[in-house]
Amino acid sequence: NEEALRRTEKLNTIGEFAAGIAHEIRNPLTSLRGFLQLIKNGQIKEEYKDIMESELDRIESILNEFLILSKPHLTQYNKKDVHVLFKQILPLFETQATYNNIQLVTEFDLDELMINCNENQLKQVFVNFIKNAIEATSNGGVIKIECKKEQNELCIRFIDEGSGISEENIKRLGEPFFTTKENGTGLGLMISFKIIEEHGGTIQVESQLGIGSIFKIKLPFC
Ligand code: ADP
Ligand code: MG
Repeated sequence: NEEALRRTEKLNTIGEFAAGIAHEIRNPLTSLRGFLQLIKNGQIKEEYKDIMESELDRIESILNEFLILSKPHLTQYNKKDVHVLFKQILPLFETQATYNNIQLVTEFDLDELMINCNENQLKQVFVNFIKNAIEATSNGGVIKIECKKEQNELCIRFIDEGSGISEENIKRLGEPFFTTKENGTGLGLMISFKIIEEHGGTIQVESQLGIGSIFKIKLPFC
């Protein structure tokens, strides 16, 4: 998508980079603070430590990713199973989903879906889409993630029953700082478009106001 590519070039100023880094790091920091609070209250579970460690890893990798975004030729690609990537990020949303009366459902059509990717970048994209879907689903509902093999490509759909997006706003998706949220920064989609593009993939959006949205990622297999 040429339009999206041109838009990303606007991000190349120091101030915008700083805003982007702050945005992406706030989520794992909030989560870390939450788990720390639980531990301070005496709820010490072994799994908290693992989650906290992976959140710290995320912060580190996010910082690396921002550097990578400015140096795409240095990105390392490895063969990964998409199942595994989702297994690692979905627990991060459990509390938020339950709290908002949202059911997160996944559907994989094959046992193994291997793709050549930068694991952390791709996880960042998935996290951005799931977060957006949750934020759009304010009155509860189902968010479905479908992973399928279609015409030799991996197709991942994030399907929500949320607010939907107006035609006017659909055109602006991926534009840096385009947000309709009070506390949004409008960088999640821009970064996601850029990462998927660098993986040789595409992103398509279908949405209807009041009905919901489908964000579809297509990626080449190994
Ligand atoms: P942010 O989430 O900080 O606003 P994003 O780049 O992730 O930034 O998203 C930009 C805008 O796109 C959002 O503010 C919202 O208006 C719209 N949007 C993205 N995903 C969805 C979705 N699943 N449902 C409804 N609107 C969405
Ligand atoms: Mg977002």
